[in-house]
Order: sequence, then structure tokens, then C-alpha cells
Amino acid sequence: MSSEGKFSWDFLKTVADSLDSYRVRALIDAKEDIINAGVYDETQYYNILFKMFNVEQSKFTLFHFLNSNQNLNLTSIKNFSEQNSIELRKALSLLELLKNEKRVIVEEIYEKIKGDENSPDKLIFKDLSIKIDGYNVSKIQSIYEPVKVIFDSNICSGCSLCAGICPVNCLNIYNGFGKIEEDKCIRCGLCYSVCPRSFLPMNVLNMYQDNCSEFKVYTNIGPYKEIYSARTKLTEIAKVCQDGGITSTALYYLFDKKMIDLALGAKISQTIWRPEPILLKNKEDILLTTGTKYVNNPTLKVLSQLNKDNKSLAIVGVPCMMQALLKSEIFNINIPSLSNVKYRIGIFCMESFSYESILKICELLKVNIKDIRKMDINKGKFFIYTVNDEYNIPIKEISHLARPDCEVCYDLTSESADISIGSIGSPSGWNTVIIRTDKGKELYDSLIANSLIESKPIEDVKPGLSLLQKVAGSKKNNCKKHVTSRLNESLRIPNY
Ligand code: SF4
Ligand code: SF4
Ligand code: SF4
Repeated sequence: MSSEGKFSWDFLKTVADSLDSYRVRALIDAKEDIINAGVYDETQYYNILFKMFNVEQSKFTLFHFLNSNQNLNLTSIKNFSEQNSIELRKALSLLELLKNEKRVIVEEIYEKIKGDENSPDKLIFKDLSIKIDGYNVSKIQSIYEPVKVIFDSNICSGCSLCAGICPVNCLNIYNGFGKIEEDKCIRCGLCYSVCPRSFLPMNVLNMYQDNCSEFKVYTNIGPYKEIYSARTKLTEIAKVCQDGGITSTALYYLFDKKMIDLALGAKISQTIWRPEPILLKNKEDILLTTGTKYVNNPTLKVLSQLNKDNKSLAIVGVPCMMQALLKSEIFNINIPSLSNVKYRIGIFCMESFSYESILKICELLKVNIKDIRKMDINKGKFFIYTVNDEYNIPIKEISHLARPDCEVCYDLTSESADISIGSIGSPSGWNTVIIRTDKGKELYDSLIANSLIESKPIEDVKPGLSLLQKVAGSKKNNCKKHVTSRLNESLRIPNY
């Protein structure tokens, strides 16, 4: 058989484009540096390289398909997904790569349905409009820059996944701020591709969360299956937990049933109230992590140490960390430690502070940081509790002290987690628990079945879901306001 019979011209073109892709070339050229850095061994390096090649090949296959069709819209992507036997949401994730590389222009078209005094206006998704924006293989430039562009534009959330996956370990996040050792950086752009603040296709993330391939408009708390108010029945946890102790109880169960080997979270370091990442190895370690920390913690950078062990993992973190994890699951490039993440346990987060800002809040409230027993944000106020006293200050009086990058954060309730846990909406001493995925539901049901928690439907408690929706909505509005003002000043914004 002639080679013409085995390979189509389009196939050969996509292979050539993929080999020429900057992302693939950067990995091939830096093979030695990557292996010498020791984050990934040789087998893992090849797994990442071939997966990257595979992703690039699928991306270029879609690009050539779009280039040879007219009147491009959602039906075009559906046709592509049927012809190539890939899920529609997967095809849409490839379209997001092309959009981010500015090879295509994609516009989502919505129709606004006017509400009345009983119901607000509604947006209904109608279609996609896709345009090819000029293309010449020889002019391909790297757009997967290192995340220095994110640091420099003050939109880095400090989630630290970039540091957790960098193949040459040349990136660090400390106190919420990032730094790259430029002379070591191989400009592979892997950090940019996992970063939740470079591009974050929310519709695609929501499809994976909701296990569907439809464009849906969700409420202010994102896709979910069920919501409860709950508290632990475990006395050791109840004695020390911030609210209802559900996060600690979930970890207790997962360790007890040997469903995870490790869990990643935050604990207070030797500097009081400055958190640091902790790798929990058993249920006894859980008590080291209780209580909410309001200072940014680079939890995900620890992933760089977990590529060799093949240990299953639960990660507890704030919404920007959950976004980074879900994004990297969708745009999977075979990073071993990420493939071992079995549970994303998200916590609610309104904003975070630098350690220095927490010291300033203490100064304002005339509290010695060493005396603090607990901090909390509730009812529009920041609370500090010592053994004998309670201090509080309206959030708006300290909002200038919050990290500026939190201003462009749209997510209060960890919309990209398997299960999200916080306090807003539940009575004091209880947690609000949002179950988002099948895995999250299985975990929550097991906590009830094993008599580890007390659970009530959120409708049965006060202040309830309406307060949670309201606070989540105000965070989204605030984010929109800051994104608009950054756009007006021609500043970079996260591409949600
Ligand atoms: S900093 Fe980013 S671009 Fe540079 S080597 Fe690390 S992952 Fe690659
Ligand atoms: S948002 Fe996260 S991944 Fe992006 S640059 Fe900041 S720390 Fe790195
Ligand atoms: S407000 Fe958003 S960006 Fe800031 S720490 Fe919380 S989740 Fe991350």
C-alpha cells in the first residue's frame, strides 16, 4: 500500500504543525535541563511530551476543520466532535486553546429575557460565532509566556500551581507573590497553561463540573447538585474546628477508609498566623490544620515533590486553587502528581491578605497577634477572637488591605471543587456544604452513612441559601467592577 493510502494530507499537516508547535519544541529542546532538574524522571518527561504532542495534534485538527468550513458556529463544533468521536466539551476545550492563541475569535451569543417584579432578568445561551483570524504556520509565536506576565500585572492569585508543575523548578510563590529565576526558565509555558489567571474557560469548566456538554447559565454559586448545613459528630474535631468541622471530618473519613494516601492543606507556621503548606499523612495530622487562615498559602507548590510516589491525594484549598486544578484536569498533560488528585475540597473565600496586612488589622483593632484564637469574616465584618474578647471591623474599612489580585476573583464558593465547604448561610457552629460532583456526593453520603456528621437541608436553616447567593453575587459584581476598571486603564485582566 502506498503511503498516500495510509495518511491523509490533513493528517500530515497537523503532525507537521504539532511538531512545529512552540509548546512541543520547548519541551524537546530542553529535555536535558528538565531531566537534570529532577522534578520529572525520563519516563515522566516522555509521557508529558507525547501527551502535549497529542493535545497539539487535536488542536490543529480542529483548526484545519474550521479553516475548511464556513459560517462557523456551535453546530460546526458539534459536527467536528461527531466526526472525530470526541466529546463536545473536549472539542470546546480545544477551541479555547485556539481562541487563547488568537487563531480564532469566538463570541458567545446570549438572549436576555426580561424579568418582572418576582423574577430577575435571565440570560439564555443562543449560539457561538467563530471566526478564523488569519493563520500562517511560519508566523507562530509563543503565546504561552512564563507567568511573569501574570505576576507583573498584579492578577496572580498566589494559587502556586505554576510552581507545582514547573519542569525545571525555577519558580517560587511566597506570601502570595511569584518570582522566576529567568536564567533557568526554558520558556515552555507550562506554567501559563495551568494558570487560572491566564485563561479560564468557565463554560467548559462548568460543563465538566455539571457532567454535561451544554452552555448553561448558573446562579451565583455555580453548578451544584445539593446543598446542606452540617456539623461534625467527632468530638476531637468539634473541640477545635472553626465552624462545623466538615473539612476535617471528610479528611478523617478518607484517611480512615484508606481512600487517600496524602492530603494537602494549610497549617500555621512557626510565625504565628502565617500559614504554610502541610502534607497530611494520616488522620492524626488533621488537627494541625483546623481553623480558617486569611493569609495566602502556596499549597499547590508542594505538588512538585509528589511526582515520584504515585500516592492518591485530596487537596483542600481556596477557589482559585480549585480552578487551577480543574483547568489542569481538563487540559491534562500527564503531570503525575496532578493525575493523583482524587478529591478537590474547596473552601469559601471572600478575599485573602498578606501577612503584613493581617498585622495592620491587628494594629487597627489593638490586638496582639499572639493572642488571637480565631479569625472570621461574617455579616460584612472581619472578626478576631481572643480567649476572652471579640473584636470586629467592617470589611469595607479594611478592603484596601486585601490582596489586589483578589479584586478580580469572581468565585466565593469554590465552584470548581468536588465539594465546597464554608460558613455563610449556616448558623454558627455549622458549615454550609455544596455538593458539586458525583465524587463529592459519594463522599458526603458516606459521612452521613458512617454517622460522622449531622446534616440538614439548607432550606431548614437560617440565614440559608438566599444569604449565600447574595454574598456570592456581591463578590461577582465586585469582580466585574474591577475587571471593567482594569480594562478602561488598558491593564491585563484574567481571561475568564
Ligand atoms: S517558569 Fe514557566 S515557562 Fe519557565 S520553565 Fe517554569 S513552567 Fe516553563
Ligand atoms: S495565579 Fe497561580 S498559577 Fe497563575 S501565576 Fe499566580 S500562582 Fe502561578
Ligand atoms: S479571593 Fe479568590 S483569588 Fe483571592 S485567595 Fe480567595 S480564591 Fe484566591
